[in-house]
Amino acid sequence: MTDLSEFVRELPKAELHVHVEGTLEPETMFELARRNRVPLPYTSPAEVRRAYRFSKLQDFLDLYYAGQQVLRTEEDFFALADAYLRRVQADGVRRVEMFFDPQAHTGRGVPLGAVMAGLQRAVDAAAERSLSVGLILCFLRHLSEREAFETLEAAEPFRDRILGVGLDSSEAGHPPARFKRVFEAARELGLRLVAHAGEEGPPEYVWQALDVLGVERVDHGNRALEDAALVERLRRDRIPLTVCPLSNLELGVVPDLAAHPLKRMLELGLLATVNSDDPAYFGGYLAENYLRTAAALDLSPEDLRTLARNSLQASFAPPAEGETA
Ligand SMILES: [Zn+2]
Repeated sequence: MTDLSEFVRELPKAELHVHVEGTLEPETMFELARRNRVPLPYTSPAEVRRAYRFSKLQDFLDLYYAGQQVLRTEEDFFALADAYLRRVQADGVRRVEMFFDPQAHTGRGVPLGAVMAGLQRAVDAAAERSLSVGLILCFLRHLSEREAFETLEAAEPFRDRILGVGLDSSEAGHPPARFKRVFEAARELGLRLVAHAGEEGPPEYVWQALDVLGVERVDHGNRALEDAALVERLRRDRIPLTVCPLSNLELGVVPDLAAHPLKRMLELGLLATVNSDDPAYFGGYLAENYLRTAAALDLSPEDLRTLARNSLQASFAPPAEGETA
């Protein structure tokens, strides 16, 4: 296992599906709560960890938004992103495309400028260490199209520091097509487009993400495998899927890792990648996702190399930065 662990850490790779808010470790949550005088409904980091028992996406989201209350200042967002970026760089990550949820912060009075300034400082510090990072602004799909438009407008002064837009939060009952016009507006601003689809939602939501929103990458996409025509479309157009095995396990998307569709995706010729989603909540950062999935699905070193190569190919980095392995 140690040899494989070293092998995985040495593979050049990208992480394309990670929510910066999902890297908030319980210890940091406590530290920031103390600093910002935010009351927490827990008495210790251990108690927070014990609360992380989810049966579905919404269980997680309820706790996730509660935990984010501690993030208040530019310094908080810098510390959060900086800690994550240093950690994954040690795991051999060369490129990160990191999601953030402005509405989860502006909705409780934190200025977008503070969020952006903190994240930008962490991105700049990473660049100095030769880690390339892009920021993807996600709209919360349980909120309205109007609120998504307001968020996009508020982000325009930061346009140069934003790589793209995405769509996240509660999937069931919130079809991507509702955000058609805001994705069109984002495209006109020259932003790259991605969306969460097919995690809990049906294959139809993946079709909508592709054909109505025009996304270039699908975040998760597990349920696409239920639709042969959709699989063919994803394969033919080399649409990347940013798959998150440990997240899928913790949220009950798969009953156990041995039942995870990742290997099947590779066999079908799909451009699947491995990612951590919300690593502080789901029991592992990127390297752990590779290692535990490899053990459960009996993936070969060649499979792992393919997954790492896929992640660099699927990134939006210019080829010089994406350095295809
Ligand atoms: Zn996600």
